[in-house]
Amino acid sequence: MKTDTTKETASEQSGAASAPAELKYSGLGVSAGIAIGPAHVVERGLIDVPDYCVTDVEAELERFDGAVGRSIKQVENLRIKASELTEAAAEELTYLLEAHRQMLAGSRLVRGVEDRIRAEKLNAEAAVQAELSQIAHAFSGMEDSYLAGKIQDVREVSARLVRNLTKAEYQAFSGLTPGSIIVAEEITPADTALMDPAIVGGFASALGGAEGHTTIMARSLGLPAVLGVPSLVHEVRPGDMIALDGVKGTVVVNPSAKTIARFERRREALARRQRQLERLRTVPAMTRDEVRISLQCNMELPMELALARQAGAEGVGLMRSEFLYMNRDTLPSENEQYVAFKDIVEGMDGHPVTVRTLDIGSDKLAYSLGEHISPSANPALGLRAIRLSLKVRKLLETQLAAMLRASAHGKLRILLPMINTSSEIKRVNEAMDKVVRRLARKRAAMSDPLPELGVMIETPGAALAADSLAKSCDYFSIGTNDLTMYTLAADRGDEQVAHLYDPLHPAVLRLIKYATEAGKKGGIPVNICGEMAGDPRFTALLLGLGLRDLSMAAPNLPRVKQRILGLDMTDAKKRTAQIMEQSDSGVIATLLDDFNALE
Ligand code: PEP
Ligand code: MG
Repeated sequence: MKTDTTKETASEQSGAASAPAELKYSGLGVSAGIAIGPAHVVERGLIDVPDYCVTDVEAELERFDGAVGRSIKQVENLRIKASELTEAAAEELTYLLEAHRQMLAGSRLVRGVEDRIRAEKLNAEAAVQAELSQIAHAFSGMEDSYLAGKIQDVREVSARLVRNLTKAEYQAFSGLTPGSIIVAEEITPADTALMDPAIVGGFASALGGAEGHTTIMARSLGLPAVLGVPSLVHEVRPGDMIALDGVKGTVVVNPSAKTIARFERRREALARRQRQLERLRTVPAMTRDEVRISLQCNMELPMELALARQAGAEGVGLMRSEFLYMNRDTLPSENEQYVAFKDIVEGMDGHPVTVRTLDIGSDKLAYSLGEHISPSANPALGLRAIRLSLKVRKLLETQLAAMLRASAHGKLRILLPMINTSSEIKRVNEAMDKVVRRLARKRAAMSDPLPELGVMIETPGAALAADSLAKSCDYFSIGTNDLTMYTLAADRGDEQVAHLYDPLHPAVLRLIKYATEAGKKGGIPVNICGEMAGDPRFTALLLGLGLRDLSMAAPNLPRVKQRILGLDMTDAKKRTAQIMEQSDSGVIATLLDDFNALE
């Protein structure tokens, strides 16, 4: 993805000599919408640093060394991103990042921290804080303004070190001016979970890929977002006005009156279109030749319930339960989870709600699970999702109990993430039997029959073994986000390989087709809940592949419905058959786009 930065002075645009310069950035627009508001720049680090005495000095030095290593890697990543900028901006940022790298590789700061850990037995965070204060004091007496300015670099590096030491995962976005636009180097899914769309206008960050969980959450919450703007966080000041376009991927700092008017016109046009689509709320999703399609919503946070209802969703096709574990230090109790699931089941007025067991790991991390998750060289291939639940049985049993109890209040289905083998399903069934017996002894109410148990098809292994998996579960839910990532070995959250992450690759399409047909042959329902389901570009193809149940972020539902209303299933099937004969994703894309343009 090409990123570039151009600067123009506001006086050139408006004639106002004192107006600040308008800065334009372009990145990856990942969540649609327009936001105009003041910048809230996230600087993590030297706030509330814990201060204590360590007993094992060697272990503390090792912990500090680990934080230095992680910091160097992050700076390296930013340098790669910076090289994509226009020449002048790239040069400036590369220079700055090189200074940071050198400081991390060995400097007074790093040596000073190590000395303090050894001599004063200080914990590493406090040692960084103390060393920074001393360096800042020495710098403040300098006459040379260039050298005095270098303290900013020391501060930034110190903040990075502390962030990596404390693994600071969450930010309270409370007390912001409504409409604020969050600007950060990186925004995690846990950060996004704390963003209330009534307060946060949108966000922009340096890192992150188009199908990462942060992006998915932004779309679900209807928060406009732009990723891949590395210099923004260094150049914007807190409170600077920002205009952001999450469709085009543009960010303008200090927008002129003319630019604001242009963004507002676009915002109004998008809102008009959304209002038109909202009229479809109660219209059944049916193709022109009367094939009925069921459209449900994906949810990551309970607050999306209102959006799902507003969009006219016929159920929740995927409730990610990770939100219960994020931004906290302790694990959620059975009762807390029961209340959360019950509220959603009741809120959907008899429509089915599919709740997925914990899918933590890879890019979705949670503090509360700290002791259960060790660092992994390859987190996406490591102890994540059902693997963690099966290893730490208490996690699984607590969730199953909460879901079983919530099932007494409406139609609840249980979904298992990252399943590859029937034996994993068997072990979950055993855990479920045990939990059912325990709840029955306590006379807890549960649905009768018990909730259906389905599995995500989101690895190539699961897709190719779908015929045998179909014998062990009640339904399939195809997760194209991970399926694409694992099939093409391209990280869904890494913007550097975003061009390789292609759900139209014939291998991905063949796996979807095979799993859909295997589910049907096995007599179980198959639905799809990956991001493909929420993009009208893919609707004809998914229907042509035999899918009739689609689940997506609420804001996408009306667009997909509109596409279905204009489609002819016979034509969609014919075009899909043609597409499935191709071996080149470029040809596939053209065949699909031509069909979409015609229909
Ligand atoms: C998927 O992988 O497609 C999916 C829906 O699950 P998640 O995005 O939560 O990994
Ligand atoms: Mg997944």
